[in-house]
Amino acid sequence: KKRILDQEFSRMNARQREAIFSGRGPLLILAGAGSGKTTVIVNRIAYLLKYGDTYHCEELPFGLTEFDVDLLEEYLQNPNPAFAERVSELIANRPVSPWSILAITFTNKAANELKERLIGTVGESANDIWANTFHGACAKMLRRDIERLGYTRDFTVYDTDDQKRLIKECTKMLNLNEKNYPVYQVLSVIGRAKDKLLSPGEFAESAKSDYRLSKIASIYKLYQQRLEAANALDFDDMIRLTVKLLAECDDVREYYQKKFQYILCDEYQDTNYAQYALVSLLAEQHRNLTVVGDDDQSIYKFRGATIENILSFEEQYKEAKTIRLEQNYRSTQVILDAANQTIKHNVGRKGKTLWTENPGGEKIKVFKAKDEYAEGVFIAEKILDEVVRYGKNYRDFAVLYRANAQSSAIETALQRSGIAYKLFGGYKFYERKEVKDVISYLGVLCNRQDDLRLKRIINEPKRGIGDTTVDVVEALAVSSSRCMYDVLAECGEYEQLARSREKLTAFYSMMEELRAKRDLMAPSLFASEVLSRTGYMEFIIAQDKADGRERAQNIETLLANIQNYEENAEAPSLTGFMEEASLATDWETQSEDGQYVSLLTIHSAKGLEFPVVFLAGMEEEVFPSSMAMQNPDEIEEERRLCYVAITRAKQRLYLSYAANRRTYQGLRMHFPSRFLKEMPTEYLDILNQPEPVHTYAAAGTAAKAPKNPIYNYRAGSSLLSGKKAPEPTGEEYRVGDTVQHAAFGQGVVLMAKKMGGDWMLEIAFEKTGTKKLMANYAKLTKP
Ligand code: ATP
Ligand code: MG
Repeated sequence: KKRILDQEFSRMNARQREAIFSGRGPLLILAGAGSGKTTVIVNRIAYLLKYGDTYHCEELPFGLTEFDVDLLEEYLQNPNPAFAERVSELIANRPVSPWSILAITFTNKAANELKERLIGTVGESANDIWANTFHGACAKMLRRDIERLGYTRDFTVYDTDDQKRLIKECTKMLNLNEKNYPVYQVLSVIGRAKDKLLSPGEFAESAKSDYRLSKIASIYKLYQQRLEAANALDFDDMIRLTVKLLAECDDVREYYQKKFQYILCDEYQDTNYAQYALVSLLAEQHRNLTVVGDDDQSIYKFRGATIENILSFEEQYKEAKTIRLEQNYRSTQVILDAANQTIKHNVGRKGKTLWTENPGGEKIKVFKAKDEYAEGVFIAEKILDEVVRYGKNYRDFAVLYRANAQSSAIETALQRSGIAYKLFGGYKFYERKEVKDVISYLGVLCNRQDDLRLKRIINEPKRGIGDTTVDVVEALAVSSSRCMYDVLAECGEYEQLARSREKLTAFYSMMEELRAKRDLMAPSLFASEVLSRTGYMEFIIAQDKADGRERAQNIETLLANIQNYEENAEAPSLTGFMEEASLATDWETQSEDGQYVSLLTIHSAKGLEFPVVFLAGMEEEVFPSSMAMQNPDEIEEERRLCYVAITRAKQRLYLSYAANRRTYQGLRMHFPSRFLKEMPTEYLDILNQPEPVHTYAAAGTAAKAPKNPIYNYRAGSSLLSGKKAPEPTGEEYRVGDTVQHAAFGQGVVLMAKKMGGDWMLEIAFEKTGTKKLMANYAKLTKP
């Protein structure tokens, strides 16, 4: 049995196999980046599904015939796929069912990849596995049982924008000055309290001695009351309330404890207290908990994550088995060395060795740009260059940055070059105003208690319902402990509303009419109905031209998303879609073939890998961020972030920084990041300065280059890199030139740009349409 399993999982190394075949009980895998932790999770699930968890039991199942034993022997000599199924049947003892496995990861992208990898390994039955983010898994549990906590199943999930609005309202209602209690600060204090599972009362107790905190505690209290009244949850509530549900309702807890025979949690170093409590509760009965993580990649301290969860695992589960993996399979030697050298500068770490058998690879390319736009242009050009030079696809690239705000200059450059990209976890599609408006209509139509969203749309488009009227409706609702929608239903009875009665009634009847149709139509049809009946679409189209068009397009995209959801969901419903939308974080430009460059913050790139990675904004005050500069602990967290970023790359890594950058403080000069300085120069290949391209330094100067060239290098120091530029042919290209290509035939130049020793051209070919090419590499000729 052991021999057959080893053979089946022969791609894995011995330690990985040990983890995959570990029997029951708690298991901790502690290992560095790219050492196959996630791969082990996938394979462990595959193993459990196929063979059960009885690797360690010596006996084969009862009743094997001699013929069976012969078959097994022969299979070992020659693993003929035709017998594979029979062999699994013979050695499997009690396979674990897919629905009794819970696999948790951090980002939507990682969860999707996990699902894909599982389907690839074990087939369609993987669809029954709960492979989710924390929020995704919690949403599923809450949809089933949230009524036990006094909410209804139609609950709304508030995003950050909703949260901020609500906090502002609460701050105002408590007569506190928003200047002294800035919304982002309050938001973060409440978030941290929720991460620690502190209720408003408990938080108030702990904040008693601090005047400011106790005021924030009162905001928290009101905020929570308002959320509950609106039948709404914020993101942190999703986890907090699931823990509450499991802790308070014995039958619910027992149901899930029994259901989830195996729980596997990726990126465990980044769990906060609430997530830790959730996992612990769920795993309490079977204790079959596998957690994997890397202390060097802990990057969510600011979100309350505590590395203690992973470090104290062995104390929490005395019978736990710990496995360390040390071989990196992802990156080249150069990339891995650079990562190891960088993280070494952290003092507060346990330290570990990570090695690879992968070949050395190319040096890390460093580029200094004039400003952030030039940086974007550099990235776009390099992507096109790589596509032509190495036959790469857009999917092979990721551009990583420290903060979301950095994406816009890069986006502009990619758009201008016609490169399709997908923005992950950035400025969310669902937070665009027009999209949010439509979502708010749908939200109120699902959940009448949602006052916040009702206020957003009651006069959008304009219906002559003024702010004063809305305030009166709200005051009436508050004084009678009802929701605003209920007040609208009876607006005829209130003297105070006499003057706007007609308009309010018209709005209310329109909404009621729509509500009656809600469950009779497919969600996408219903959404179209809402758009036309409320006059919202007309209002958007009537807006100023260019802007209106973009907004209309966004709404079209929203409708397409609903349709897409309908086609893929098992039992599509409007609430189901709303839930999906509230958890969505990604935004994709149109790409015909599903090929796009990924744009993500380093945080959302965790766990992912790409052949070519660009790490942009390698500047002090950007990365490390200005917020972290004063605090050595925070600098260490930034350095771990840098380690995460470097280790995403498989083959090539580009680092770039801008000498000047526009921030909210205006245009400012920036210095290269200390992380660049920490990387040993022998791994770096400093690319040309952008300005005077043709002034090559003499070879002798290059030899005398200062120790760390980033701080003092000359134009053309690419001679240091030893990499040869393509031989220029001396040919010049202009827009309108006719050119000839061996495969594509004749074409006309639409765009021409000198890049290094070559020309990047966009050419309309008669036969094949428009293509971007590097002239010398593509061996173009001029007829
Ligand atoms: P991270 O810390 O970044 O999350 P990880 O430890 O989860 O990394 P994986 O993503 O599982 O690492 O694996 C990294 C790469 O190495 C993947 O491309 C995977 O297919 C490959 N890999 C893992 N184990 C092996 C192996 N035994 N042989 C060959 N390739 C492997
Ligand atoms: Mg991983």
